[in-house]
Amino acid sequence: MTSDQVRDYKLLGILKRQFPKVPLLGLTATATSSVLKDCEKILCVKQPITLTASFNRTNLYYEVRIKGSDDASKNDIASLIKNRYKNQSGIVYVFSQKDAESLSSELQQRDILAYPYHANMDPDDKSRVHRKWTSNKIQVVVATVAFGMGIDKPDVRFVIHHTISKSIENYYQESGRAGRDDSQADCIVYFGFSDIFRISTMVVMENVGQQKLKQMVDYCQNIDRCRRSLMAVHFDEVWDDEGCHQMCDTCRHVKDFTTVDITGHARQVVQIVELASSMDEKLTPLKLVEAWIGKGPAKRRKMIQTTTLSRLQAEAVVVRLLLQEYLREDFSFTPYTTYFYVKLGRKAPLLKSQTHTVSMKMETTGTGSAVVKAVSGQGKAKEGKRSVQSAGDAPVSKKVKTQLP
Ligand SMILES: [Zn+2]
Repeated sequence: MTSDQVRDYKLLGILKRQFPKVPLLGLTATATSSVLKDCEKILCVKQPITLTASFNRTNLYYEVRIKGSDDASKNDIASLIKNRYKNQSGIVYVFSQKDAESLSSELQQRDILAYPYHANMDPDDKSRVHRKWTSNKIQVVVATVAFGMGIDKPDVRFVIHHTISKSIENYYQESGRAGRDDSQADCIVYFGFSDIFRISTMVVMENVGQQKLKQMVDYCQNIDRCRRSLMAVHFDEVWDDEGCHQMCDTCRHVKDFTTVDITGHARQVVQIVELASSMDEKLTPLKLVEAWIGKGPAKRRKMIQTTTLSRLQAEAVVVRLLLQEYLREDFSFTPYTTYFYVKLGRKAPLLKSQTHTVSMKMETTGTGSAVVKAVSGQGKAKEGKRSVQSAGDAPVSKKVKTQLP
């Protein structure tokens, strides 16, 4: 149960007031401890007994893939379904009804039995898709989160998120539809830059919507911690990474990474945002990245410092700066839509100080041309595997140059 759903239960206290002697049993598949406490209050049961199981579903393998381009991610999904999940049942979650229609038709063109499911479909069509999928007549449902209630199919072998969820609790619940038969199943989420802002504007009216989305983004950008450890925090569980048994991508494939000093990058980005604001111009995250990598208008290119980082790296840095509040969202509303623009965050002024530093962990596999400065890494034992020249105790001032992807 997510905090949105709790709202729907607000009036259920009436049950205990009207029928004080009737025993009441509340059941939920997923709830954080704060949601549980809210439910106890809402249901007005005096001295309730709470029974909970661990959040840890040991048979689920969690993985995050970077979504380079839309086409690449679609090809990747099609190839997974045709090869790794051949003849196996699964769900692909997408952001919108339009995405459900378009992705399912693209999968169909690749001879995959995939059908869309969303709230706006004819009820008969919806139950037909549900029924055929349950009886394995179709392999994949490409759905919005409207596809959820009442799914009780034990042999779902994969749940792929073509777009990130709006919170870790939602992700846990949606991906948790995999592997109910306790056999191994995969939960893969594609993490794309522009999706962050589509979701951000969607949850703009929700109370802690931005905060929850940022936790989800942080989960996706993580490259060195057990995925389960990041989920455990949200279910208030004490977590020992050993309990994962290599059932997440970061535990299974130890990634080479280094802690990179991004202070210089941060200053360049902040300069672009300041310049735009002085020209009374609003910058979307996409425009910001384009300006920074030198794809913006020629007039602006002369006034700013562009970067040699690749687009994906530049996006990763901008995401980090948003998560760490050097940048923040600036919503603009029209009657039809909400726009996400970037403005300076509360920590931006700290960058004026010469001693202030910002760092982030970046993967060091692959080849690339970006030259960045490595600082002391705080990675665990696995960081010992780094192939780059940045000893764990290199002083900040030493300016070690390293090649990044
Ligand atoms: Zn793990």
